Order: sequence, then structure tokens, then C-alpha cells
Amino acid sequence: MKKTKRFHELILVAFGFILIFTLLLIERIGILYQGTASDMALLTDDKITNDKKTGSNSKCLVIWEEGDATSEKALKVYDQILTDMRVSHDDMNIGENTQDIDKVISKYNSVVLAMSNLEILGKDITKVTGWVGDGGRLLFGIPPFKSSNFEFISDKLGIVSSSNNYAKVDDFVSEEGYMLGAQRTYPIIDGYESSLSVVLDSDATVYAHTADDTVPLVWARDYQKGRFVVCNFGYTEKAYRGIFSSAYTLLDDVFIYPVINASTFYLDDFPSPVPAGNGEYVKRDYKMGIADFYSRVWWPDMLALGRDHNIEYTGLIIETYQDTTEGELKANESTANYYYYGNMLLNQGGELGYHGYNHQPLCLDNFVYNQELGYNTWDDYKTMHSSIKELIRFSTSMFPNQEMSVYVPPSDVLSPEGRQMLGVDFPQVKCIASIYLEGPDEYVQEFEVAEDGIVETPRIVSGGILDDYMRITAFAEMNLHFVSSHFMHPDDLLDEDRGADLGWEVLKANLDDYMGWVDESAVDIRHLTGSEMAGAVQRYVNLIPAYEVETDSISLTDKGLIDSAYYLIRANKGGLDNAYGGELIKLNDSLYLLKAQSSKVTIIRSK
Ligand SMILES: [Zn+2]
Repeated sequence: MKKTKRFHELILVAFGFILIFTLLLIERIGILYQGTASDMALLTDDKITNDKKTGSNSKCLVIWEEGDATSEKALKVYDQILTDMRVSHDDMNIGENTQDIDKVISKYNSVVLAMSNLEILGKDITKVTGWVGDGGRLLFGIPPFKSSNFEFISDKLGIVSSSNNYAKVDDFVSEEGYMLGAQRTYPIIDGYESSLSVVLDSDATVYAHTADDTVPLVWARDYQKGRFVVCNFGYTEKAYRGIFSSAYTLLDDVFIYPVINASTFYLDDFPSPVPAGNGEYVKRDYKMGIADFYSRVWWPDMLALGRDHNIEYTGLIIETYQDTTEGELKANESTANYYYYGNMLLNQGGELGYHGYNHQPLCLDNFVYNQELGYNTWDDYKTMHSSIKELIRFSTSMFPNQEMSVYVPPSDVLSPEGRQMLGVDFPQVKCIASIYLEGPDEYVQEFEVAEDGIVETPRIVSGGILDDYMRITAFAEMNLHFVSSHFMHPDDLLDEDRGADLGWEVLKANLDDYMGWVDESAVDIRHLTGSEMAGAVQRYVNLIPAYEVETDSISLTDKGLIDSAYYLIRANKGGLDNAYGGELIKLNDSLYLLKAQSSKVTIIRSK
């Protein structure tokens, strides 16, 4: 009796071991990983037939002043955000206008003054304010200069008094019910005297201000049948686009714009050979070599962060760190690391993509670097071509079931020849994830689909330092495209410029904080891989939204809807109850996320 019981126990223990062993085996070889077909999957090129078209009858006029550097910069910002938000718009260089201004603007529903100089309008300024009184919507797109025209109309904007000196703006705070991410103050690096210093009356609603609350940065004020919005924020850079676009959303009672709705985290150079490099700070903090540090500390920590924040990483493969750019390109024979890290990443739900045969950007000898990055150029087109061919062979031999479609250029550098080569010769590459903000040599992108069908999915912020500039850039993009896109490298821990001396614990805490900020600011944002982000961008560019706002409801139609689409809706007057043909989620007091699943959606306004 006793013997049989003992025997059964032993069998159970043996089964337990077999089970654990099998699970480990499955995890290592990657059986658990299955691709998902869904409304996030990449589409074939022929499905994308529209390029950020607008179906709306409502029109906007952007007025700017040629020769004024600030106005020219402002025009660039507004042109792109209006295109992305699908606001049909014309630009008018004020110096070239020969018609009566009221005749011109009467054809438009809204006007953006992308210039500071109101004097140029002369006496016509009263025609502009008269048009607002009749129901027009006017956005002062950048802070106006103090001038007699400004003084003349300032009471209509709600200005009680204004100082002759401009206010220095060192930070940005959104009111809670206005922008996403309003829970924080966003410091601005290198702030200067750039905003009007004003006192407002009680009819003006302030939406954003400085942390000390002395400078209103965005406000709105109804004027007779129309509305003024003032964006008293003068830094007209790409990084701050979402601040300008959010101000624009305040003009109408209800404003709807399509968004990408995606949060993606990329791991560049992962998997890759364990880099040579100075492990000084790793040794200081962990008393171990780089390889041990990666496998025992960094990667388990990254996996834990991913679990905590619901992130599925997109890893970008480097085959070798040899910098050969001529002759025969030798295959990397030591693949154990790739299997180990690659499968763990895939099993966590992540995805793999291409970074390079080596870390030399796809540039030929005609490419001129503006900064010294220490890279070689490729000997000829054929060798550059064979490097990508070898990378694809290497990657697919190890991960035959993984469909890889994302390419990340080494150091975000990609020459026109390299770019064309990817589009023409490598149909496997469907999406390029380079960089959003401009740099000296970088391949800078917008969220769009290029003419050759490649999806451009720029990364917005990077690394583990996550300084104030990155924070406010992330904040702005969250509000413009409802997107978050971050990348980092395992070798950030070896490079002082990327925070190596701070140590991994500090960088990890920063990352955790940033990921938590995304979770908190955009609870409902989709966590996607790189190829899913590209699928989201394809659907986004294809939309042709048009909407009609009635007293009780809003009807939204979209001729470009593929399967589902996302919109942010700003409701400035009254709330929204629910939607037919879609799902409505309230994000804050005035902002809603709509998932449209039908080309016609009816949104019910609150009574
Ligand atoms: Zn890299």
C-alpha cells in the first residue's frame, strides 16, 4: 500500500519535471509565438489608395508673411498639422494678397494667423474681427507682436492689460481637461522671452499656462457668434506640434481628427553580437562583464518592464559589428545569442526586424556626413545591396517563421540611394522606422506611406536619459497623433553620451517612469509592435473623414475606412454620450477616443 503511494508520488514528480522541461523547451524554440491577423496587420500596397485626403467641406485659411522667419516656421508647422488632422486648407502669403481681406476670409470657416505682425493688415484688422463676430473662428497661431493693431483688438481677445515686455516661457502646463499628459509640468530647455505677458478677463478660458501661472499660453474667448483662440506659445518647432494642433481643436464646438493610436518600443541592435566597448560602468555597478550583465541584469529587467507596462518589443537585428563595406561579406557563424534573446523576445509577444548586416549606414561615397560618426561608406551599390541580402538570409535562417518587415537605419542615417534600394529591391522591407526630429545627417520622417509603398514610421524619443526636451516632444505627439514611439540600445549602458555613467538603475527608473507616463496619459492607447504600427499608419493615411455637427448628434463618414479607424474628438461645448458604428471612450473632460468600425458613425451629444 505504502509502496504504491510512494510510486505514485514519484510519477507525479517525474511528470512535473517533464512539464517544466517541455515548457522551457517551448519557450526556447519559440513554438508559443503565433502571428496575429487583425485590424493592425500590415496591408498590401494596393489597399492604400488615399494620401491624407479630407472629405470635409469645412475649410481653413492659413495667413503668413513671407520674409519673416518666425512666420515661415509657423507656416511649416501649421501646414503639416492641418494636413495630418485632415483640415482642408489654403495658405495665403499676406504680401501677395490683392483682394479685400473680408472677401477672402468669408470663404473659410476658420483662419490661422501664422504671423506675429498684425500691422500688415492695416485697417483691415476690423474686417477680420468683424468676420469673427459673424461666426468666424480665428486662431492666433503664434504670439502677436505688441502694436497699435494689437492694442486696438486686444479687448476682444479678453486682454485686460498687457506688459511691453515679453514673458520668458520655461515650462508648459495644460489644464487637466485639455491635453493628454496634463498631470505633469513640461520644462522647456533654453526658454526665452517669447510670449505675450497679459492679464485676461473672466470671459477668457485658459487651457494652458506656465507652471507659476503668470503667463497664459493657450486661451479661447467667444466673441459674438464666433471665437478667438490665442496660442501664446512661440516655439514653432516640430517637437511642439501637438501644442499648436491642440490649440486649433479649440476653435469649433466639436472637432474631430484621425489619429494613429499606437505605442511602440524598439530595441535597436538587439539581438546583436555582444558589443565590444567599455564596460566601465557596468563593472562599477555590477562587478560583471558585458555579456553577463546583458543576460543576467539588463534583459531580465527589460522583460519585467515590458510585463509591467504591457509592452511587446520590436528588436532589430545586427549580424556583425565588423565594419567591412567592401569585398566579400562574411556570415556570422556564432548564433547562440540570437536564438537565446530572439526567441525570448518573440515569446514575450514581440517582433524582430532588420537593422543591418553591420552598423554601417546604407550610404555610398557620394554621401556627405555633416557630423563625424566614424562610419565607412559602401564600396559600391552591389556590396551595399549584398549586405541587406546577407542580413535577410542570416535572420530568416534563424527565425524562419517570423515575418520580418521593419527596417531601422543604423544611427537613423539612410542615403537616397539606400532608401531607393530598399523600396525597389527588397519587398520584404515594408516599413522604415527612422527618426521624427531633425538632425544633421538623419533620415527624418513624417508618419506616412511613401510613393513606393513603404510605410514611414518615425521614432520620436529614445534612450534612458529621457530629458525635458524628449518629455515635451512625447507629450506633444501624444496629443497630435495619439502616438508614442521610443527606442533604445542595449549598449546605451556603455556610452557616456547616452547615460552610461548614470548607471542602469537610474536609466531603468527613467524608462519605468516614461512607460508609466504613457500608461497614465493614454490609458487606452494600443501597444503595438513595429509592423503593427505600420499597419496603423496605413489605415490612418487612407482615411477621408467628413463630419456634420448637429444639435443632438454628429454624423461622421469616412470613404477611406479599411476595417477600423481611430479619431480624437474635442468637444468644447457639451459632452458626448455614445456612438453608433463605433466605440466611444472618454479620455478627459473634453477629449474622446472614437474607434470607428463603420464608414458611417453617429455620435450622440449630451443634452
Ligand atoms: Zn543601432
